[in-house]
Amino acid sequence: MVESFPEIREAVRKLCAEFDGAYWRTLDRERAYPTAFVQALTQAGFLSVLIPEEYGGSGLPLGAAAAILEEIHRSGGNGAACHAQMYTMGVVLKHGSKAQKDQWLPRIAAGELRLQAFGVTEEKAGTDTTRIETTARREGDRYIVNGRKLWISRAEHSDLMVLLARTAPREEARPGDGLSVFIVELNSPGIVVRPVRTMLNHATTEIFLDEVEVPAANLIGIEGKGFRHILDGMNAERILIAAESLGDGRFFVDRASAYAKDREVFGRVIGANQGVQFPIARAYVQVEAAARMIEQALSLDEAGEAFGTEANMAKMVASEAAWFAADVCLQTHGGAGFAEEYDIERKFREARLYQTAPISTNLILSHVATHVLGLPKSF
Ligand SMILES: Cc1cc2nc3c(=O)[nH]c(=O)nc-3n(C[C@H](O)[C@H](O)[C@H](O)COP(=O)(O)OP(=O)(O)OC[C@H]3O[C@@H](n4cnc5c(N)ncnc54)[C@H](O)[C@@H]3O)c2cc1C
Repeated sequence: MVESFPEIREAVRKLCAEFDGAYWRTLDRERAYPTAFVQALTQAGFLSVLIPEEYGGSGLPLGAAAAILEEIHRSGGNGAACHAQMYTMGVVLKHGSKAQKDQWLPRIAAGELRLQAFGVTEEKAGTDTTRIETTARREGDRYIVNGRKLWISRAEHSDLMVLLARTAPREEARPGDGLSVFIVELNSPGIVVRPVRTMLNHATTEIFLDEVEVPAANLIGIEGKGFRHILDGMNAERILIAAESLGDGRFFVDRASAYAKDREVFGRVIGANQGVQFPIARAYVQVEAAARMIEQALSLDEAGEAFGTEANMAKMVASEAAWFAADVCLQTHGGAGFAEEYDIERKFREARLYQTAPISTNLILSHVATHVLGLPKSF
């Protein structure tokens, strides 16, 4: 049984109550970053729960971060503005040297430095990460980085970025080799960040890197093994995204139930009709099933066992449950669901992302088909 962190949940709920629907609606309309919210989370120590105590964090397990993000989403907010600090941390914690941890972690934990950007995706390579073309060539005590990244969220609101770049040519035999991970300071000369406007308020960007100098000391782990290093962190990311979807799912079920109990049409509340209550009940069942899968993945992680498959499955089930619940909630609200003031249409747009990013459902199905069921590889 994994810990559920009731005190943390209560504290997050209290903090989120200060940032109501009107706050998120205004930001959404202006595509603005929730600076005050992220500052409040940072000051309360919620963004440094995964950082070990010796570096100024709380040294809690992944379940604590999952609880925080779930509660943010259940409250109607959005953790996407800051969740990367929690999961990009993984690669530094696991593969960073003592000197690197000493250099960055205490300042991140204190809120003086933001590590909010994760630079992996490129337009041409898409999901096939081994085909990224951004390069880092070694010159003395530094690397020179050239390339272009797409969909890199929060880069305008971060000091540091975890970057994946090619340090050796791609070999057909081991396509994942030759990639390396770096910590890059986003104010380095040669970096240009261009915002990309999307259907949701996500602060995502395109990043151009032109002869950017990165100290060799910023290489995380072993040169050429970066793909493997980031894969470790990605399993944690899957669970945290699943937790956000779980929070979304619970938000939609809460809101749909409340509206169905209140709204009267034909002389009775709409929730008295089974045509209205059954979809809400189905959404609840699916969301709770996702919660169990997240717990299972978390318990494997806490036991120190491999949890990649379970984390991916939990993320898929939770994102689909949240999307089903979003649709049911919208339908339950009738026309009101489309009005901005109810926050349903905003959350509906936000919940959809997690079937595409950070990994699309097809790629999870492909992993399960080939790695769990032993079916032939298609790529
Ligand atoms: C708002 C937003 C924020 C993001 N933030 C970040 C970020 O901070 N950092 C970062 O690095 N990336 C980020 N991403 C990128 C995200 O991870 C990718 O968009 C996602 O992994 C899908 O890659 P793609 O867009 O290139 O799709 P493609 O690879 O072009 O795929 C398109 C579709 O085809 C399907 N597909 C492709 N190949 C196969 C196959 N062999 N079999 C079956 N189906 C297949 C995919 O599942 C997908 O549905 C973000 C994306 C968005 C939209």
